[in-house]
Amino acid sequence: MNTGASTYVVGFPRIGEQRELKKILEGYWEQKNSLEEVVGVARDLRQKHWLLQKEAGISFISSNDFSLYDGMLDTAVMLNAIPARFKDIKDEYERYFSMARGNKNAVAMEMTKWFNTNYHYIVPELSSDMEFALNASKIINEYVEAKECGIKTKINVIGPITFLALSKRVDGNQNTLELLPKILPCYVSLLEKLAELDDELYIQFDEPITVKDVDQRTIELLCSSYKELAVVNDKLKLIVMTYFDHATEAVASLADVPIYGIGLDFVYGKENLTTLDSLHGKKLFAGVVDGRNVWKNDYRETLELLKAIEMKVRKEDIIISTSCSLLHVPYSLEQEEQLAQDIKSWLSFSLEKLQELSELAALFSGDNAKNIAAILESNQRIFAEKQHLPKIVDSKVRERIGKVEPVERNEVFADRVAAQNKVLGLGAFPATTIGSFPQTAEIRKLRRDFKNKLISSSQYEEGIHSYIDSCIRFQEDIGLDVLVHGEPERNDMVEYFGEQLAGFVFTQNGWVQSYGSRCVKPPVIYGDVSRPNPMTVDTIAYAQSRTSKVVKGMLTGPVTILNWSFVRNDISRADVCEQIALAIRDEIADLQNAGIKIIQVDEAAFKEGYPLRKQKIVAYEEWAVRGFKLAVSSASIKTQIHTHMCYSDFNDIIHTIEKMDADVITIETSRSGNKLLQVFASNGYANEIGPGVYDIHSPRVPSVEELEEKIHQLMMVLPPEKLWINPDCGLKTRKWDEVKPSLTNMVKATQKIRRKI
Ligand code: GLN
Ligand code: ZN
Repeated sequence: MNTGASTYVVGFPRIGEQRELKKILEGYWEQKNSLEEVVGVARDLRQKHWLLQKEAGISFISSNDFSLYDGMLDTAVMLNAIPARFKDIKDEYERYFSMARGNKNAVAMEMTKWFNTNYHYIVPELSSDMEFALNASKIINEYVEAKECGIKTKINVIGPITFLALSKRVDGNQNTLELLPKILPCYVSLLEKLAELDDELYIQFDEPITVKDVDQRTIELLCSSYKELAVVNDKLKLIVMTYFDHATEAVASLADVPIYGIGLDFVYGKENLTTLDSLHGKKLFAGVVDGRNVWKNDYRETLELLKAIEMKVRKEDIIISTSCSLLHVPYSLEQEEQLAQDIKSWLSFSLEKLQELSELAALFSGDNAKNIAAILESNQRIFAEKQHLPKIVDSKVRERIGKVEPVERNEVFADRVAAQNKVLGLGAFPATTIGSFPQTAEIRKLRRDFKNKLISSSQYEEGIHSYIDSCIRFQEDIGLDVLVHGEPERNDMVEYFGEQLAGFVFTQNGWVQSYGSRCVKPPVIYGDVSRPNPMTVDTIAYAQSRTSKVVKGMLTGPVTILNWSFVRNDISRADVCEQIALAIRDEIADLQNAGIKIIQVDEAAFKEGYPLRKQKIVAYEEWAVRGFKLAVSSASIKTQIHTHMCYSDFNDIIHTIEKMDADVITIETSRSGNKLLQVFASNGYANEIGPGVYDIHSPRVPSVEELEEKIHQLMMVLPPEKLWINPDCGLKTRKWDEVKPSLTNMVKATQKIRRKI
């Protein structure tokens, strides 16, 4: 390892510059590629990434940050925590991918979000009768492989407390931490094994669970576990790594535990500054380069932060680190040929962040050989120039912000619903859908051809209109009450709006792993947001012109647009949300003027933006609700506002949903029965609800009887006059062959119920 100011990368993205891992995995799953090819691509990627980090002068480079699918799944395999239904699969790769993706005989393990990121991990399934045993081969192989490339890595492992806290038990018990005595010996054996590999080894134990408001018991277990692990072998230097928020309780509890160091996130957990007295001589891996966002580091600010840290920690004990794994940001800016030069100069992806670490280390240690004055100056110039550009600060937008435009709709729900019922004239149990209809190969091709300028805009419009026509005809034929246009013009619910709003930019290659081989390319919000032109009015008005039934306009809400983008960090998220909300507000006004009577404002990602610490949740809820309400505040008393959220568990956020005060909310409930719906009843939720009656994630066609039964269950919990009937979510991923019979049955079931009441 280098001496002097050291640099540390918590983890590196693994999908590859050209998404090589995605491509080879998907080829393998489709039986187009061999396993040897997968293994070869994986090895090449690891080596490439190690060497890049080495070239950039990074002192601590990870091994075992790589995964063929997911790191939690790898850890389950390391502990031999193989669910019974996969036990008999002999081949280890086949078993691994079956656990991740399911097979003919066994459903896949569940997947869920990794903290509040858009990365999803595989949830380990544990039970007390499992035979936990160490399988360290992946970890050892990768260490040896790196060493053969001339790199002594630090080894990344998900720590025992986080592993357990994020797992679930399948033996009826809820308490996963209770299994600690069973898995800790495996971790001890792991360390014993690793100690044989070298004279000195650094092990990073990821324990991000410590940044949540965990209970005292968890903190005690953390402390006792690391007490045990820290003394296994003195060749080993243990680093407890935390990220995404502050970990002050954990730091205090580890104060006298003889680990080598602690990793703290100073980007998303400034409170970590208050806990530095408890480090007691440990190394501090100071997360100062943002691993979750794409903006260039402001060196002056970071140096000030480091100075504040230095008041409490000896300079030689401070290592300059990323705030978390770089998994959450794209690979490199090198491929971005179409980005405007100035915007590109404000950005920093994984490779560029390596450079930032090195430059910051030089600046921090005052390494004059590196011409630090020039580095600092060119960095500062970027920030100075950026500040006053009209595309960053749009005076028209700024004038509107905070102006006394009403943030609330003028009327209360009871009055609104009465007025709306008069206009809409819908009977009991209005049947509708969530917005999208199948995205067929023809529709995708139509959009692609238009984008590539292979067809004219009138040819494109004709194609879209004809798809809308057939959607409308189908919906009328089967007897749905509130129709949608089907969203054929949208490739993605955020991208579609981002492309039309000022302040957004799209990268060519800014892919980030979402799960397994799946990647997303989030838009980048770099400047003040405004709406140069109406975004949906022509399309929705066209759909409405084709039917005498009501067509529901379809928009994505401000909070969701925000939560699925990389957001500028020079103003608050709350302010960006407000800007987007104003744009949506204008769109709603225009739709209303064009005669649209129902407008749905999707907030699919509302819950995703929740901070990890309770203390910060209140503020989030406040501005997120305000953003939504501001967006819909242009709706008149007669315009019905719907919202949609893709969750079933509203227990924690029912009061927030209440505050959003949408006239109708459609949600995802079909897989959880009516249990999770009860929270709406018990809280006396006043507005209308459309609980999804069938699961759109499955190709299965539900029968009329089954759907009737489902509606009956809903009626047991909620009064019939509040209920809407609809599927769980949009239908864009389904095939027409599935959608047609499913919706036909849904309407039939609804009609049968209506006749009975
Ligand atoms: N209106 C969108 C659709 O139907 C909603 C998608 C979502 O909730 N994720 O596709
Ligand atoms: Zn949904």
